[in-house]
Amino acid sequence: MNFIIFGPPGAGKGTQAKRLEEKYNSRQLSTGDMLRAECESGSDLGQILKAILDGGQLVPDDVMIELVAHAIEDEACAGGFILDGFPRTLPQAEALDEMLNKAGKQIEHVIVLEVDDGVLLDRIKARAAETGGARSDDNEETLKKRLDVYHEQTAPVLPFYEAKGLLRKVDGMAPIDEVTQQINAAMGSKAAA
Ligand code: AMP
Repeated sequence: MNFIIFGPPGAGKGTQAKRLEEKYNSRQLSTGDMLRAECESGSDLGQILKAILDGGQLVPDDVMIELVAHAIEDEACAGGFILDGFPRTLPQAEALDEMLNKAGKQIEHVIVLEVDDGVLLDRIKARAAETGGARSDDNEETLKKRLDVYHEQTAPVLPFYEAKGLLRKVDGMAPIDEVTQQINAAMGSKAAA
């Protein structure tokens, strides 16, 4: 099955995507993880990307679209994929549609984890403490920037999927297990939650 886990930074997209991989025989594709791996490689591209990530900005659409186009063709995605962190702009959503149409594939659900901004800030602070600051964009200043970017550029993607009848809204502030249950329930129904 192919589906998208959507939501603001710190909403728990990665945590939930990892939990859903086995059940749905679908591979998690985290664009943030892919970009961080490139940053850590120390390549020239990695250094450019690191500056963008640390500034809380979005990587240009053409770079992201190419990255995802390759990833979904990978053998590991034969059973399906869970997009975590993509699309983040309307042009990315449109390009995804186009690449899937060409490949004869489709998105079956867009799971939206809804979390208030204040809760996100607390979570990111907790994640920074737990991981010893492993992610250099997990700090208050960058999170505020990432939230602004989410509201301005990413949230407008939602109506695109709403019009297709694919949106499933889930309370991302519930305990982790309950969020997983809500997602499973939403995946079982075709109606928007
Ligand atoms: P994430 O781990 O999903 O929170 O992503 C971390 C950072 O990677 C984001 O703040 C962006 O700078 C960058 N990024 C990840 N996915 C995308 C995307 N689809 N489009 C643009 N930038 C992205």
